[in-house]
Amino acid sequence: MDLQSGKFYWPTTFPNKPTYPMLEEDIKCDVLIIGGGSSGAQCAHYLSEADLDVVVVDKRQIGEGSTSTNTALLQYLGDKMLFELVNSFGEDKAILHTKLCEEAINDIEKQSMSMEIDSEFTRRDSLYFASDKHGVEKLKKEHHYLEKHGFKVDLLSEIQISERYPFRKELALYTYDDGELNPFKYNHGLLKEAHKKGVSIYEQTNITGKKLEKDKATFYTENGHSIEAGQVIIAAGYEGLEFKKEKNALITSAYSVVTNPVTEFTDWYKQTLIWETARPYMYMRTTKDNRIIIGGLDDNTTYPEDRDSKIIHKKDKLIEEFNKFFPNIQVHPEYYLGAFYGGTHDGLPLIGKYEEFPNCFFLFAYGDNGLVYSGALSKILKDVIIKGTHSSLSLYLKELE
Ligand SMILES: Cc1cc2nc3c(=O)[nH]c(=O)nc-3n(C[C@H](O)[C@H](O)[C@H](O)COP(=O)(O)OP(=O)(O)OC[C@H]3O[C@@H](n4cnc5c(N)ncnc54)[C@H](O)[C@@H]3O)c2cc1C
Repeated sequence: MDLQSGKFYWPTTFPNKPTYPMLEEDIKCDVLIIGGGSSGAQCAHYLSEADLDVVVVDKRQIGEGSTSTNTALLQYLGDKMLFELVNSFGEDKAILHTKLCEEAINDIEKQSMSMEIDSEFTRRDSLYFASDKHGVEKLKKEHHYLEKHGFKVDLLSEIQISERYPFRKELALYTYDDGELNPFKYNHGLLKEAHKKGVSIYEQTNITGKKLEKDKATFYTENGHSIEAGQVIIAAGYEGLEFKKEKNALITSAYSVVTNPVTEFTDWYKQTLIWETARPYMYMRTTKDNRIIIGGLDDNTTYPEDRDSKIIHKKDKLIEEFNKFFPNIQVHPEYYLGAFYGGTHDGLPLIGKYEEFPNCFFLFAYGDNGLVYSGALSKILKDVIIKGTHSSLSLYLKELE
């Protein structure tokens, strides 16, 4: 899949990243993880704590899939609003999912604190503003469920918003304890720690074939080598759909820009993550070196040429939109991109287990909080692989014959 195009920011922040060899022999292991992006790295992190022989392979260099274009806002609320998840799945399941996302952010923080590589994890609150009248009603419902279930959350009036920010909106939800990080460094940090604990990692190792039997799975590389495994996690990001089509998955195109470093954020209350109720939504965050990331203006196209032909226009438009919010912050785009982005129709990420793929689990952590979702799902998968199950598995499991 031609995942993305443009001038990427995150890889420039870490030029001396660790490198790993290409697989040049036939090997056997307990668990094979296909994909060394942030999802595969999270799986490797959890499985490295067990007494298992774990192998990670990636056809690119580590972190060069969607992880290098991730804008990396870490939020427990997602594209599908909580009250909509309640309508689709019932209150218990919707709240369980939200709590698991909250827990995943806490876990990402803990992992970040114990890594040699600094992932730049920073706690941030989020400002979720109403884009229009419908948004006002939606945020009131959202507030109702969040408050009822013990999440720390405030509803801000137009005046309260204008006291904190240089723009006016009718209503906003202010949530606490979200976060942000550098996804490229986080990816490398997790894998480096897992490698120290014995996980084998191979880059430039493209999986192109498979032989699936009742008690084992063998995957073949483009160079003709084999990897025999007891269990396999396919954490191939949006390219997981090249292994297995999944009806609940939905690919669209997303755009973002990273600006020049700016000198001060006095206008930007606590450098909160900012997003809105419109769909697709615009969002903004800041970085460790004082840049601003602006994303949004998603497009339904699934053709790379079409996606890429719009990058320059979307880049200018994102800056124009930003200037309406913060007219006193002078910015220009230094990095910009267009990328395929995967969501799900029902708003929940999923773990796929299909009869035609015995001993294999698909980690489809699709959605705007992909990094948070993959954290939650890989923790569940660890227990499924080691103990055979997890109490929250049924929430995400898609099992098809
Ligand atoms: C523009 C954009 C903004 C985003 N913003 C956010 C955000 O703010 N917050 C958030 O939480 N999430 C966000 N996401 C989602 C997030 O980027 C993804 O959830 C996350 O990067 C996915 O990581 P991954 O490891 O699943 O995929 P990837 O990083 O793509 O890793 C999968 C890896 O699998 C490898 N692979 C694929 N096929 C094979 C094969 N046949 N053999 C070997 N290896 C293979 C690939 O080379 C790749 O490196 C955003 C996504 C985009 C595109």
